[in-house]
Amino acid sequence: MRGSFIAALAVFALTAQPVVAKEPADLLIRHATVVDVEHAQTTKDQAIATRDGRIVAVAGDAAIAGHWRARSSIDAQGRYVIPGLWDMHVHFGGGKDLVEENQALLPLYIAHGITTIRDCSGDLPDEVLAWRAEIASGALLGPTLLSSGPKIEGIKPIWKGTLETGSRADVDAAITKLKGLRVDFVKITDSTLDPQLFLYAVAQARAAGLNVSGHIPMALTVRQALDAGISSIEHIDYAFKAGAKDEAAIVADFAAGRITRAEADRRLDADFDEATAMNAYRDLARRGVFVTPTLNGSRILAWLDQTTHADDAYLAYIGPKLRKTYDWRIQRAAQADTDAIAQRHAHYEQLAAVLPMLQRAGVTILAGTDAGFLNSFNYPGIGLHDELALYVDNGLTPAQALLSATRAGPAWFGTLERYGAISPGKIADIIVLDRNPLGDIRATRDTHAVILRGTPYDRTALDHLLAATRAKVAAWNAVDAK
Ligand SMILES: [Zn+2]
Repeated sequence: MRGSFIAALAVFALTAQPVVAKEPADLLIRHATVVDVEHAQTTKDQAIATRDGRIVAVAGDAAIAGHWRARSSIDAQGRYVIPGLWDMHVHFGGGKDLVEENQALLPLYIAHGITTIRDCSGDLPDEVLAWRAEIASGALLGPTLLSSGPKIEGIKPIWKGTLETGSRADVDAAITKLKGLRVDFVKITDSTLDPQLFLYAVAQARAAGLNVSGHIPMALTVRQALDAGISSIEHIDYAFKAGAKDEAAIVADFAAGRITRAEADRRLDADFDEATAMNAYRDLARRGVFVTPTLNGSRILAWLDQTTHADDAYLAYIGPKLRKTYDWRIQRAAQADTDAIAQRHAHYEQLAAVLPMLQRAGVTILAGTDAGFLNSFNYPGIGLHDELALYVDNGLTPAQALLSATRAGPAWFGTLERYGAISPGKIADIIVLDRNPLGDIRATRDTHAVILRGTPYDRTALDHLLAATRAKVAAWNAVDAK
């Protein structure tokens, strides 16, 4: 009798105590609908636990609440959770006087749910590489910054802050220097770069284990750049070029000096052929070469005749010196006559029509804006949401557009094991949205909270980031007006 009484007491004692102590997390996101961006599926009433900047658990809310405790939590009831957004084509630059104004753009990305940016080179490579390190160490607030460092160019290029190369030895030295700077990839532009050196630079960068991207010289076919090993095509214009039936002949005429650049462009426009294009795009897909369309930038420039953008609310985030860098393209656009303007509009429509063809051919689209200095009214942060909306307006599904901004970037960098999903082990870069982006891509801008490498920013904190940049710009404008 006595033995069984003690046994009964022991059972009582066991059940009355917590079975296990809850594990500590830094943050719990409760009752969320998790969007699996890879498969375009949602799972309701999930909870996410993060610790030390990583996602440590994702499961039904009750299960997570039973196992984890955290100092802070976000109620995501009725809300949607996606991985942080990546803008794969941004710039910083405009000269040493603009360092502060460029740096003030960094919080804008966070405030718009963009947790990673790929800097495609400007004229402040030393500053940007320093920011990359400071952001990584937590000394500077900004999205994870991946940078090409200084781009490879020819001798005396129109772009500043480049590595000028006029020989194979120069290219070798440039790539050694870039390896030393631990750049995340290599960017090459061709304002004065010899086309054969361009091909050499692409091949050598790949041989050095670096991804490489850039502007393909008019004197080369896109196929030549692919054969050399280019990893992504920046700007949909170059994908469009590959769709010209006569591309090789146009390129040969241009290379031999028989036609001007403008004439080459005109012939490429007239020569676009869907079957040729689809063949070229299937080749891109087979080779695993991604395309960053940067449609938003092209659209803004094509329609500069119809708006001055003087009333754009986002000008409040752009410092006066950065804003001055807009003038170059504005003035160039203003010189265009009626025919040139009509041609520009038509050309944009042609470019945009390439997007669904790329998708159909199986090419991975990288969402990128070209936001930054020079590129007028292409605003850092909000620009990516405009870019994604353009993808859907031009024939992608919201799910495809979402992939381009969440998984395509890490796929290009080979870091999908750390990014691109809401699952254990991933970096805790998480966006909480008020609406389902799979239903309407414009929901990506309805940000309730952003978790950046584990640190949560609720709507109030995000609004503070925006207000801080507005205040800086207002102060600079006041000085500038004197
Ligand atoms: Zn660019």
